[in-house]
Amino acid sequence: MTTVMNSKDHPSQQSLRLPDTADLSRVNRTKIVATLGPATESPERLRQLAQAGVNVFRLNMSHGNAEDQPKRIQAIRKVIDELGMPIAILADLQGPKLRTGYLKDGKPIPLEDYSVVEFTTRTRESEPGIISTKYTELISALEPGGIILLDDGKLRLEVLEKLSEDTLKCQVVQGGILEARKGINVPGTTLPITALTDKDKEDVQAAVSAGVDFIALSFVQRAQDITELKTFVKNLGYECPPVIAKIEKPQALKDIDNILEEADGLMVARGDLGVELRPEEVPVAQKRLVKAANHAAKPVIIATQMLESMVHSLQPSRSDVSDIANAVFDGADALMLSGETSVGEHPIETVAMMGRIVHEAEKSIFSDMEHHVEESRIVSPNFYHAIAHTASYAARKANVKALVVYSNSGSMAQRVSKLKPLRPIIALTPNKEVYNRMALLWGVIPLIIPAAQQTDAMLDNGEHAIIDRNLLKKGDSVVFCAGNTQMKGATNMLKIYSLGEAN
Ligand code: PEP
Repeated sequence: MTTVMNSKDHPSQQSLRLPDTADLSRVNRTKIVATLGPATESPERLRQLAQAGVNVFRLNMSHGNAEDQPKRIQAIRKVIDELGMPIAILADLQGPKLRTGYLKDGKPIPLEDYSVVEFTTRTRESEPGIISTKYTELISALEPGGIILLDDGKLRLEVLEKLSEDTLKCQVVQGGILEARKGINVPGTTLPITALTDKDKEDVQAAVSAGVDFIALSFVQRAQDITELKTFVKNLGYECPPVIAKIEKPQALKDIDNILEEADGLMVARGDLGVELRPEEVPVAQKRLVKAANHAAKPVIIATQMLESMVHSLQPSRSDVSDIANAVFDGADALMLSGETSVGEHPIETVAMMGRIVHEAEKSIFSDMEHHVEESRIVSPNFYHAIAHTASYAARKANVKALVVYSNSGSMAQRVSKLKPLRPIIALTPNKEVYNRMALLWGVIPLIIPAAQQTDAMLDNGEHAIIDRNLLKKGDSVVFCAGNTQMKGATNMLKIYSLGEAN
């Protein structure tokens, strides 16, 4: 249900995070997604994360049961509402994470280089010479010459031959010790499995019933995986929240244009992607994916090991710092923290550090106009795009303080955001769900305003909210644009004016 909130409903917002008029331009444009976990799930920690600059809370659904999720999500939502800040909740589904079996007598198995082992569904427990798994699809899909990676790629097997329906004969190419329940990756082999497992279905139901803002689908192989998720949610009787496709399989890279048509955004899931691809291929894939998402005008999140060096230390490694800055230069909308905030020792300091690195990187972009996205790099030029582009151009030429975008559904704000304009984007909406979702968008400061039927009332409401929050003051010039507002005379409009002089 859509709840309309008055600006008075958020008295704490400005004091918590939004800057005063003097430094609106200092607000970071690139957003931060923080994974919640034991280190951060208390209301106090959530508040601290928000104040440190987190825009999206990510729930890793691999942990916890579906029955517990609604309570967990409602508790987080309560804190967000109390804070009165635009923060989105993203439920990240576990997906078909394949694992090896348990160990016979609990004993880890040494795998010698060049030794021969059986990879089989015949038994539930692994023992010397036998690696068990319960996925029959793996056995049927793998062919001689196929590669099996275990434990995040630390161990590597090559398939020699199919011994039977349930067993492969493999050679250990890179040995080590196999522990219980380790991840299995089969790079280059397309598996006849859906990205939506039975556990995911239960988690999705729990997540949508509790009203999350985004769902991330893991191990997407093809566009059809996203369609399946959307259909599943629709059949449950809910409107499907925007779906973020996690790109962690080489197959998904090949089908990226179709995936981008169907998904509402991408996550460059570098953890598993770095296992399925050679690690040195990941930065290239990252750049390609960011570019593709920007062309399609969809948000893209860069994930995993962005500030890994801060899990146990207050000092970031220089390579982590460079990685974050480079993700900003690549044009990512958001950067994600995983273990750093879920189990790390310094979650709040890590978020603050990420914010500072983003700030420096953005400062350098803004002093170099050439980094800006040009119109020709965005696909499907249309009416809305023309308005968005003209607004962004006008904001720079007229040297206004901000772009103000009225967006009922968030899509106009997304279009403007994707042009990476120099000025901050204040996005007005009467829709609380849209307000929270826009927290993910690059450069967007979401603001909730009362609904209005007429353009003048809408401008008035927007102006009050902006001035009430101290974002801008009377007399400050803005470029205002509106997309599909459902208001007579306001559809696709653009206006340059000073606050206080709209009418
Ligand atoms: C990843 O693999 O990079 C990722 C984000 O997925 P997860 O954390 O769910 O493994």
